[in-house]
This record gives sequence, structure tokens and C-alpha cells, in this order.
Amino acid sequence: MKEMFQMLSDPRFHLVYGITQRFSEGPSPRQVRLNREGFTIVKGLGKKSLVYPYQLLAEHPSPYKGNLFSPMFGRVTDINERSIFLEAVEPDDDLRAAAHEVSHVDLLSLPERGADLIPILKNLGLNTKSLGQDCETLIINGLNPDPGVTWAEPMLLAHQRNLHKGLEMLRRLSPAKRILLAVPKEIRIQHYDAEIVHVPSHYPASVDALLVKAVTGRENPEGVGVVGLHNVWSLGRVAVTGRPLIETVITIGSLTHSGNYIVKDGSMVGELLAFANIELNNGDTLVRGGPLRGESIEKMSRSVTKGATGLFVVEAGTVPDMEGHSPCINCGACTLICPARLSPNLLSRYAEFALHERARKEHVDLCLECGLCGYVCIARRPVLQYIRLAKHKLAEIDATRHLVELKPTGHGQPDGNAPAEPVKGDNNG
Ligand code: SF4
Ligand code: SF4
Repeated sequence: MKEMFQMLSDPRFHLVYGITQRFSEGPSPRQVRLNREGFTIVKGLGKKSLVYPYQLLAEHPSPYKGNLFSPMFGRVTDINERSIFLEAVEPDDDLRAAAHEVSHVDLLSLPERGADLIPILKNLGLNTKSLGQDCETLIINGLNPDPGVTWAEPMLLAHQRNLHKGLEMLRRLSPAKRILLAVPKEIRIQHYDAEIVHVPSHYPASVDALLVKAVTGRENPEGVGVVGLHNVWSLGRVAVTGRPLIETVITIGSLTHSGNYIVKDGSMVGELLAFANIELNNGDTLVRGGPLRGESIEKMSRSVTKGATGLFVVEAGTVPDMEGHSPCINCGACTLICPARLSPNLLSRYAEFALHERARKEHVDLCLECGLCGYVCIARRPVLQYIRLAKHKLAEIDATRHLVELKPTGHGQPDGNAPAEPVKGDNNG
């Protein structure tokens, strides 16, 4: 057990890296793959259409989800249910002229406040669910989200203009009476229009629920919301440029090299790794998001979309492979380390054997998805992945029940007492 806690005092879990230089611009993409799931393609856009930077490509029905814009001069090579594919083109005069017509929105001079700003921000590609959430106290999570992700310090210390504008807009948008900026205890900053709170800087301190506890001293207090620094930076970016958001800030890293880049929405993984001079060799694992909580991806043809925080190559042999069917040996390490005081060993076994209702009874919904259980598992079970599977299956079960409950009766009225259908693959607890 001692070894386990030594592992967590590993310097790689320290979320402060002393990196303060500005982000580099990422590559000008030759191709992009934009995520369009749930979006409606705008009229007239189809295969072979030519597009220009900031052109509206698709709209989302949710008022809180930002619309989708082209990040470059390009030609649509394909559109399917999940993605829009563009390849870069050299623009002709007409396309340049169209790009020139893109209007700038001076956000900070608009009279709108609060909810009235939401449709304006949606049309600038911003997601506003967390930025505009209804709470009395809003905490900006100023920590790097995962070990290995390093953009938070340069965001706080070098890209202050964006953050100042982001905060100014946040004050107009958020109903919160108090806005706090939580930063690692080692970082001294001032001149931000927010109360600065210093918090521990060792992972999992960056997990929202734990950050709230560190700031307020309470678990799940009412009226307290959290928004990511990345989101506030994006809001500031739009306020500074006056144009839709078509980029994200990510850390691209491997064991030997790491850097922070502003990359275009939909940039292809292969192009990003080549730009950062990171090689992917046989047996390496590619991770999108943070190394601990991110998802492993198999293809270089995948892309990085808005809101992504990192792209990592985990070299073969540096971390033992996960074994999907490796049995739990009941060592208890995951239960001891779990900050949510859950039993990840049980949760993962319930998910493995499709006993999802049992996972519900064991409060799988309270899992913070910190990934520590999988990290300490000496049986190399994909514990977090199993827990995510259980949550996903339970959400599907609940959606099915909801539909059954809404099913019209013979009188054309919703029947609130309709029995839920038994769910296949689950022993119902
Ligand atoms: S990911 Fe694992 S360790 Fe973290 S809260 Fe969930 S069950 Fe606990
Ligand atoms: S899931 Fe892994 S860490 Fe948890 S008790 Fe089983 S073997 Fe140990």
C-alpha cells in the first residue's frame, strides 16, 4: 500500500510544471474532420462545396451548444452522420472575397446581458452550458485537468488578455454573485477581476467535485458551479477576435517531448504529431484528452475537436497494457484510492457482467472519473472504462424507461404508470 501512495506522490501527478511561455500556433491543416453529431448541415453545403474560414457549416438544436464553422479555406470531401471532412484549397478571388465579408462582433460593446447573450455566443461557436449555469458562486477551475496537460499556467500567466476579456464576458453572462478563480497554491497572480483562491496542486485536485470541496470546505454544496479555465479562455478568444471559435488549445506530448499549441478545430491526429515532431511507433498508445482520463484512439485519421485538452503518445513499455478480461484479484487498492469512496472493484465487475442495475445501487453515478482506480490496479483492469460503460448503459436504460412512460395510452394520454420494460442483458439487480 505504501508503494501505491508513493506512486501518487510521483512528480508527474503534480499539476504545476513551471511552463510559462506562450502557446505555439499549430499547423495549417491540410485536412480536417469536424464532429457534426447532432448538428444540422446548413442548406446548400454538400460534397465538393468550397468553404472559407469562419463560414457557418452546421447548427445545433440545443441553445447551449455552439454552431460549427469552417476552420480554413477548403473543399468538402465527404459528409456522413458523424463528420464533415474538408481538404485545404488555395482560395480563388471569390472565396477570398467571401472570407473578407465575415463580420466582426464586438462582444464587449453589446448591451445584452445574461441569457440574452446565449444565442449570440452560440452563433460564435461557443458552448454556454457551464459558462452560463445557474449558480450563486462560480468557481473557475484554473488547474491543468490531467497530469501531463500543461496549458493552464501559460493560459494564466502569458495569455492574460484573453482571460481578462473572458472574465469580463463571464461577468455579463453568469448569474453568479461571486466568481472565484482557483489556481495552484504555487502560482501567484493578480490583476484578475475575480477572487483568487489557492488550492492543492496534486492530481486529482483538478477534478471538479474535489476542487469545490477544496474551495468551499464542503461536499456538493448547493449553488456552487464550476467552469473550466479552457472555456473562459475560449470566451475571451472570441471577445478578442470578434469571430467564431474555430480552435482549441491542447498539449501535445510524449515521454520525451511536450508543448502547448493553438490548433484548428478538426485537426488530424497524424498532422499534429508530425508538427510536434512526435513519432508513433508500433505498440505505442495514442490518447486523446489527458493521459489518465483520456480515450485511447486507434487511428491517425481521427481528429482533435473544440474543447479537447490534449493529445499524447504513451510509448510501448512505459505503462503496462490494460487487460480487458483480466480478473480482479480483490487487492483493494482501487477502493483505498477512490476519492469518491466507491468500490471500483465491484463497479467494474458489475459492468463487465452487464449487471448495470447493481452498479446503480453501488452509486456508480457518483464516480468522478478521475481514473485513479485504473491507474493503481495491478491486474491492469480497465476499471474506468468499465465504469463509463456502466454509466452509458444506465443512461440508455433510463432513456428507454422514459420513452415507455411517455407512450400514449388507448385514450391518447401519456401513461405515467406504464411499467418499465425489463432491460436485456441485465439481471435487474
Ligand atoms: S474513476 Fe475510480 S477512483 Fe476515480 S472516482 Fe471513479 S471509481 Fe473512484
Ligand atoms: S479492480 Fe484492480 S485494484 Fe481494484 S481490487 Fe480488483 S485487482 Fe485490485
